[in-house]
Amino acid sequence: MAAFAVAAAGRVMTRLHVLGSGSAGNAFAVEQDGCLLLLDAGFSAREVERRLESAGLAGRAVAGIALTHEHGDHARGALRLARRWSAPVLCSSGTWNALGAPGDVAHQRVAYGVPARVAGFVVDGAATAHDAAEPLALCVTAPGGARIGVAYDLGRPTVAVRHLLQLCDAIVLEANHDEYMLRVSDYPPVVRQRIAGSGGHLSNRAAAELLCELWHEGLLLVVLAHLSRRCNAEEAALATVQNALGKLGWMGELCAATQAGPARSYGIGRMAYDLEPAPNASPG
Ligand SMILES: [Zn+2]
Ligand SMILES: [Zn+2]
Repeated sequence: MAAFAVAAAGRVMTRLHVLGSGSAGNAFAVEQDGCLLLLDAGFSAREVERRLESAGLAGRAVAGIALTHEHGDHARGALRLARRWSAPVLCSSGTWNALGAPGDVAHQRVAYGVPARVAGFVVDGAATAHDAAEPLALCVTAPGGARIGVAYDLGRPTVAVRHLLQLCDAIVLEANHDEYMLRVSDYPPVVRQRIAGSGGHLSNRAAAELLCELWHEGLLLVVLAHLSRRCNAEEAALATVQNALGKLGWMGELCAATQAGPARSYGIGRMAYDLEPAPNASPG
């Protein structure tokens, strides 16, 4: 049997850029080897470009735009940017039709078990419970192998979403509201019910429960997203999730995405080894 030696070992570095998140707009970018995949484009095209620039990124490096659903806070700038960058839009058929299915923009369908591929990024999706045409949670596998899950605007995590988000290196998860703050908020009862209902948004407690279910030793980063300005506080969301994951001994990085920015970037490293035959090894 041939012997092999580690010729080179290094970290394959994938980066997650948090451009902004909240009810006024959501956008993230996954970067690998100078190539970008945008995850949602829920600001104006100009604002997405401004936020990319502030993270030191160039729009022309965007190979594709993956969308969770058609609501403005997730897709506002998507079509204009897709045209500007000649980039395809990766989303469900329902989302694409709800966006008007323009003939001058390339579309790649994403469905559960039917991933779309662009520039080495693989984008898989799972249906979420939300009041949109065909909303998805997304999981991106970067060319270096890192898996990044994104799930927000979901009233409850479906079985498919729980399955999709397994064994991720990083998870962007909605922690929309503190249940007590929502209960005592000045929203009319019908709105409170919609937010807390099965087609609404995930609370801090529900996010913590889901993360405890998804937790594994390779989970390096959790980004809490889509925090409500009226019914949540960053400290409350972070404390709820940290308490729950801390009890399990999780040692990863936890942060909360903000609406206004500035953009923040996180490295998601994976060890990669190049193997070559050892000098004295006999073939066989
Ligand atoms: Zn939505
Ligand atoms: Zn939203």
